[in-house]
Amino acid sequence: MSNDGSKPAGAKPPRAPESAQARFAEFLHRHSKQTAPGTAFSPPIVPAAIYCLASDPSGPYQYARWSNPGWTALEESLGALEEANAIIFPSGAAAVASVFASCLRSGDRLLLQADGYMGTRTAAEKYCAPNGVHVITCPTAQIARHSFAGYRVILLETPSNPLLELIDIRDCARRAHAAGAHLVIDNTLMTPLAQRPLDLGADAVVYSDTKLLNGHSDLVFGHVTSRDAQLLAGVLDWRRICGAIPGPFETWMLQRGLDTLELRIERMQTNAQALAQALAQHPASVHVTYPGLPSHPAHDLACAQMSGFGTLIGLTLASRDAAERFIEGCPYLRPTTSFGGVHSSAERRTRWGDCVAEGFIRLSAGCEPTRALCAAVVRSLDALASAPQPPART
Ligand code: PLP
Repeated sequence: MSNDGSKPAGAKPPRAPESAQARFAEFLHRHSKQTAPGTAFSPPIVPAAIYCLASDPSGPYQYARWSNPGWTALEESLGALEEANAIIFPSGAAAVASVFASCLRSGDRLLLQADGYMGTRTAAEKYCAPNGVHVITCPTAQIARHSFAGYRVILLETPSNPLLELIDIRDCARRAHAAGAHLVIDNTLMTPLAQRPLDLGADAVVYSDTKLLNGHSDLVFGHVTSRDAQLLAGVLDWRRICGAIPGPFETWMLQRGLDTLELRIERMQTNAQALAQALAQHPASVHVTYPGLPSHPAHDLACAQMSGFGTLIGLTLASRDAAERFIEGCPYLRPTTSFGGVHSSAERRTRWGDCVAEGFIRLSAGCEPTRALCAAVVRSLDALASAPQPPART
């Protein structure tokens, strides 16, 4: 029995406000306005290790671990998406590590979600804690009541991954600043198009661009944005000195992916909303979590804080077998890990040890035509409901 079946139909996904649409139109044409006749629309790939130097080196490009024209172009693009400055990294994990390394010293306290992205917790426990940083975790559901006194950095993701619980960013920013802490938001699940943490008071935002920002499942990348020049100078310094730098070709790939971001997110969110509603009404689903469903406990916060409801759905089926048969039975759901690509995907999260039910699936809505995707997903659930049940596996 669906938990959501008796509730009113899910809200229509909020369309990006006009100002957001105008911003993205401007964003798309930011280069073309500057290009002279005969020059390429797309920024060049510059595969440099060294640059020619004057005897007294000056200018932005002196050594390729420090700067690259492709990085400059991409950082301008990513910064333009949220009226901030951006520093790019070869992965989301490196972006997170840059914040840890530049903002935390021995004796500082770092707060993370106990049920957030596992890689961030592992990095903090393995590399911050042995250097004297006190790493404290708190379940997402208790963050609103957790005192921020004494913390140096509070790094949170909302919606949380994979349970899609929400945190009030504005409230956390206010409390973090009162305590003298930096609030850093991992906005990987939303992108700056669907949620703007800096506008809500966050000091910095980290992203795994491997997911929605690139969107084509062919690149690992990340970045940090901030409007705090000092914070970002520390992040940049860490990249220059420790050398966690992206390649010029990968940089260009992300630049290209960004141009279709608005189009992709719009279709993916439409698909996620339609899927969530269909799944919530299906007798084979035990529970459906999606911030766009009125049954989501923080639906009102989602409406206030986000300009879209995201592209991920939490779906709980009766058992591990049911989850596996559902995914295998749907031709448009690939059992990949990661999310945010143009192809829909789904995975049972206990295969990575997440503390969720055996039948819990994280479903990532892709860009397939909506009706075809929904029909295929529902057919796979129908087959589940009508098939004889195998003996329970543990
Ligand atoms: N943040 C979140 C929310 C993630 O889901 C991930 C990866 O899955 C990361 C950060 C790390 O990003 P990457 O895999 O690009 O290093």
